[in-house]
Amino acid sequence: MACEKRDDTTPIALVEANSAPYALNENSCCPSAPPYSCQTPPTPVETVCVVSQPPVIVTGLFMDKPTATICPSCRQPITTETVHKPGKLTFLLCSAMCCFGCNFGCCFVPFFMKRFKDVEHYCPSCRFHIYRYNRL
Ligand SMILES: [Zn+2]
Repeated sequence: MACEKRDDTTPIALVEANSAPYALNENSCCPSAPPYSCQTPPTPVETVCVVSQPPVIVTGLFMDKPTATICPSCRQPITTETVHKPGKLTFLLCSAMCCFGCNFGCCFVPFFMKRFKDVEHYCPSCRFHIYRYNRL
């Protein structure tokens, strides 16, 4: 009784034809739908995020010579202008020389030597004070 009687009546694939839910609403789109689905009103999108971080000044680069950098004020690539001004080292040397006997004007020698003065770095275009290099 080994007959191969295949009764292929089992459905292999069912085609579901009721997968068209969008076809029902084609005629009733705009009048019954909520107003934000058909026409989106122009929302004022004015969230302008300006991230303005000042350039980081690496303090180790500024010595007693003009230094190429970016100005934090005008944001231009510049080479700084240097101005020598008396600082702690200048006054310390002056008082030390005064204590050791240089009383006849010799104690003011550090005020005339750039080597013993602090250095101010300025932007040459906008005169912004960028950095002060202290000797001490
Ligand atoms: Zn500048």
